[in-house]
Amino acid sequence: MTSIDTIEKAALHVLPPLPYAENALDPVISANTIGFHYGKHHKGYVDTLNKLIAGTQLADLSLEKLIAETSGKADNVAIFNNAAQTWNHTFYWRSLRPKGGSEPPAALKQRIEASFGNLDACKKELATAATTQFGSGWAWLVLEAGKLKVVKTGNADTPLTKGVKPLLTIDVWEHAYYLDYQNRRADYVNAVLDKLINWGFAADNLG
Ligand code: MN
Repeated sequence: MTSIDTIEKAALHVLPPLPYAENALDPVISANTIGFHYGKHHKGYVDTLNKLIAGTQLADLSLEKLIAETSGKADNVAIFNNAAQTWNHTFYWRSLRPKGGSEPPAALKQRIEASFGNLDACKKELATAATTQFGSGWAWLVLEAGKLKVVKTGNADTPLTKGVKPLLTIDVWEHAYYLDYQNRRADYVNAVLDKLINWGFAADNLG
């Protein structure tokens, strides 16, 4: 293999492995949904991104730098959308886990209580953000200036570009729930919060 081949291969963005089996979130999210969502949608964003940046100056940037570099730039909308969706989905898979929900680790729980009053109030804000996001997008728990906060973003937008630290996310694009819940987005969101949300991942992201 020549050195050029090595460099080009190293510059490609990769689809990270799912952190669990495709059927591990069943019955809250079916293996059928995960199969399409991870294997077609997420993979599609990674593949499209690699095609769009091939041979350009953006090809050498890390995913995070690529998102920062293309955010808000009219001539780089497609690259931003596919880069941000690549990042958002990897973050979403890690925001879920089999037998999730339940109680956050103590350090995170204290921060939640300081910012929202109690865990239920935090979950309710996340559910409200997720169900009121008009059209496609994401609901997020973020850290902003030392305080936890719930925000929502449309389409591919990500809090990464807004000076806050994402802690966990819920995908509310229809492809995330339509096969299992059809139009009942609230049922999907509440089931995710009660049974799959990975508070441990959010706690790790607190740093
Ligand atoms: Mn998605």
